[in-house]
Amino acid sequence: KRRIGVMTSGGDAPGMNGSVRAVVRMAIHNNCEAYAIYEGYDGLVKGGDMIKEMKWEDVRGFLSEGGTLIGTARCKEFMERDGRRTAAKNMILKGIDALVICGGDGSLTGADKFRAEWPSLLEELVEKKELKPEQVAPFKHLNIVGLVGSIDNDLSMTDATIGCYSSLARICEAIDSVDTTATSHQRAFVVETMGRHCGWLTLMAGVATGSDFIFIPEKPAEPGWQENMLTIVKKHRAMGKRKTIVIVAEGAIDTELNKVTPQQIKDILSGAGLDTRITTLGHVQRGGQPAAYDRMLSTLQGVEAVKAVLEATPETPSPVICMIENKIVRRPLLEAVAQTKEVAKAIEDKDFDKAMRLRDAE
Ligand code: ADP
Repeated sequence: KRRIGVMTSGGDAPGMNGSVRAVVRMAIHNNCEAYAIYEGYDGLVKGGDMIKEMKWEDVRGFLSEGGTLIGTARCKEFMERDGRRTAAKNMILKGIDALVICGGDGSLTGADKFRAEWPSLLEELVEKKELKPEQVAPFKHLNIVGLVGSIDNDLSMTDATIGCYSSLARICEAIDSVDTTATSHQRAFVVETMGRHCGWLTLMAGVATGSDFIFIPEKPAEPGWQENMLTIVKKHRAMGKRKTIVIVAEGAIDTELNKVTPQQIKDILSGAGLDTRITTLGHVQRGGQPAAYDRMLSTLQGVEAVKAVLEATPETPSPVICMIENKIVRRPLLEAVAQTKEVAKAIEDKDFDKAMRLRDAE
């Protein structure tokens, strides 16, 4: 029987469990065996008990659980070739030659590198007498399939990453809570949101909560933003609004690439006479039950990932499973990662129009 491994890696995201469940059950449905790799690449490098067979009932209840029940970790060893050689050995010892990874762009880049190196890693294992030629012979190729698990919605080529809609819902709930107290006291709140270099969570939360002003990395604050923000806030107040909500992404910058901080914004609003508080949402945004959308997305994508494993040939590039215009599709993993990096590069080069164009194209 073919053995397929499934792993969650990088930052946790609600919905990751749904993808593990779908991969395990779709694998079993197709007469394969499913193995969970615990604690991301750490589990692959450590091997042994960290790689466990999963039966149909082992993933019962996974769909509605937040975070990742099989654990995730950042793994330094896997960044080095020696660590990847040990990982290859552990996979062969378990008879696994296909891996579905749910993680961010770092995890997916590592996975594709692993696949490219696989034949030479096996040669080295034989040379060093860690494995016998007959042990490695049946495992000529490694299949890699990526699923994007990230609350940030920061990967190009997919409209939504697993976890982003749960996080957005959580942010909206939190802002609703702040809202009632803000209105009662006519206060201003500066809310800091996650998203690393991506403004999607902030932009969508701004739309969904009707906030007064937002700051995102892709459209840096232009010179004079302080006055501009105050003008808008005052206009809203003049129209009878009793509260002010400004949302700032953790990666927010100005056109000189200096960070725009919640404290700076608070000082400006306070200076204009508004009683202003800062709320940093922090890890609340990652937690809790997955929203319906993430349960659906992770399930459909997990099913597609197993199909992709079973249809893969040595020539097909590693795919990443995406959602484009409401359809589950496969895209070349490396291209998706490369396009994602282009956005960060455009921001670094201060080519903000290009950054926005690239994000729009997503
Ligand atoms: P994310 O997947 O959320 O982007 P990281 O960038 O921290 O998170 O990556 C998670 C793990 O993936 C790392 O700890 C490392 O083990 C592995 N990894 C990331 N980038 C690479 C790489 N270029 N080569 C090999 N492994 C990598």
